[in-house]
Amino acid sequence: MTPRIPARLTAPEPGWAISADVIVIGSGIAGLTAALRLRQRVDRVLLVTKTVLSEGSTQWAQGGIAAALDPADSAEEHLADTLVAGAGVCDEVAVRILVSEGPARVRELVTLGTQFDRGPDGEISLTREGGHGRDRIAHAGGDATGKEISRALIASLIAVKEDPGIQVVEHALVVDFLQGKDSRVCGVTLHVIGEGQMDGVGAAHARAVVLATGGMGQVYSATTNPSVATGDGVAAALRAGAVIADLEFVQFHPTVLWLGEGASGQQPLLSEAMRGEGAFLVDRDGLRFMTGVHPLADLAPRDIVAKAIVARMAVTDADHVYLDARHLGKEFLENRFPSIVARCRELGFDPVSELLPVAPAQHYASGGVRTDVVGRSSLAGLYACGEVSCTGVHGANRLASNSLLEGLVFASRIADDIISRLSAGDLAPAESFERGDDTTLVAGSERTAIQRAMTLGAGAVRCADSLAQAEKNLQVIADGTPGSTADPDSWETSNLLHVAQLLTAVALVREESRGGHVRSDFSGRDDAHWLGNTHAVRVADGSITMSFHPITRQKVS
Ligand SMILES: Cc1cc2nc3c(=O)[nH]c(=O)nc-3n(C[C@H](O)[C@H](O)[C@H](O)COP(=O)(O)OP(=O)(O)OC[C@H]3O[C@@H](n4cnc5c(N)ncnc54)[C@H](O)[C@@H]3O)c2cc1C
Repeated sequence: MTPRIPARLTAPEPGWAISADVIVIGSGIAGLTAALRLRQRVDRVLLVTKTVLSEGSTQWAQGGIAAALDPADSAEEHLADTLVAGAGVCDEVAVRILVSEGPARVRELVTLGTQFDRGPDGEISLTREGGHGRDRIAHAGGDATGKEISRALIASLIAVKEDPGIQVVEHALVVDFLQGKDSRVCGVTLHVIGEGQMDGVGAAHARAVVLATGGMGQVYSATTNPSVATGDGVAAALRAGAVIADLEFVQFHPTVLWLGEGASGQQPLLSEAMRGEGAFLVDRDGLRFMTGVHPLADLAPRDIVAKAIVARMAVTDADHVYLDARHLGKEFLENRFPSIVARCRELGFDPVSELLPVAPAQHYASGGVRTDVVGRSSLAGLYACGEVSCTGVHGANRLASNSLLEGLVFASRIADDIISRLSAGDLAPAESFERGDDTTLVAGSERTAIQRAMTLGAGAVRCADSLAQAEKNLQVIADGTPGSTADPDSWETSNLLHVAQLLTAVALVREESRGGHVRSDFSGRDDAHWLGNTHAVRVADGSITMSFHPITRQKVS
């Protein structure tokens, strides 16, 4: 049974309209990079974001951004580590682009004003995280890398805000895409909490739309993602008929501070860099259980660490394990991880003197809107970059600190592609057509029920029975609340439902365990049948068509 997804969310008719050459949706590293690069060569760029510019996962990134900046390191080694973490199903061409263009893009961030931490020699300090064979993670403010990158990008945007070529609208929630002939995307409908004319639901028309709406962590009860991560981009693209790839590959971060049974929403992350600097995991009896599980022990790829923690919790009948960082010492911890130490202390845990309780929680969506290597989705006019996209660089599991890099590299590629297409007279303006009259909206009050269904049924470890139960529970929610009021809460909750329904359906199809997709009923990786990517598309009657795309064996997997 596959779910039926509506063609659009119920919303009032647009009461106002604007137009631009290109609309960028989202103000994380991907959206800001795309908008800043586009505005240099495109006449009218419109950047819209759901709340304020700084909100999104980018500002929460702690560990850093990976790039082979050390002369002793190489793009080839970064490529090899990425392919291993991706468990055989990365798109090697896309990874090669990521690792070879990455260093230049990181240096451009420095030119834009990002202050990375530096060593006594003045060079950018590089640390190591899980799955990396070398020190190649650039960081800022100790453990505040995302905040610093976001600050620098927003400062660059503010510096040009009087430029007539760029318009920024905050508190603007994109609901759906406007589409023309052949499903070409030619704008968006959006709800703005604004002043004067631009208030309530409106329409924004453009020759190209860049989707950079980030992740979907709020689909689960416990996540490291902020509240804006409600999967709006994937859901809108799905409704519009775009190919969504590899949605079953969800990364659960192994070391999220455990705040007690029933804690929900955004949870505090204890960066992998802590283990990179020497912290290690122990169970409640003080046993270092990662030794012997993987050659990299505590620094094994995230899926392996998360799976080992879930197994250890089962063996010891506990709902968490512990991270031990005490031996790193007060001075080192306070200097290297100032934000983490402060947050732990606020919550009553002192990393200097105490073991920190940790358990896995949703962290990253490796799948998303399928794109090619210049960010084009399967729908003409629609591009996607950052966490909402699936460029193929992460495969079944993202290598630590590769996501900021992915947003940076592919947003730049998108800007370059749009610029050259516009100057070639491509991407002509299109008229939008009405896409049916769906009346399916889910009330905001159903949000916790969706999160609960997904946590129990499609969490860090799943099986056919748990997924079937989740599917059933989600269908009950889908059938249960017709005629809900059209407002931001119900649009977001409907997006959560559509992402949850699709994720559950593809997770049921992949009968193996690989990367972030861990099935207790198919415990091993099955290359004979599942070495490839899943694609899902909504078709005209609202049902989902799924297909499997085998990939040729990679050199390193
Ligand atoms: C706690 C934490 C730590 C992390 N640490 C690291 C790390 O050390 N290194 C690393 O590489 N990665 C890390 N990540 C992952 C990384 O931060 C994200 O994958 C990356 O920042 C995503 O960037 P983005 O631009 O795609 O999305 P985001 O930064 O999430 O931005 C998405 C934007 O879209 C907007 N938006 C969403 N929906 C709508 C809508 N309907 N209409 C309009 N706007 C919308 C949001 O408001 C936001 O502005 C971490 C993530 C978290 C949560």
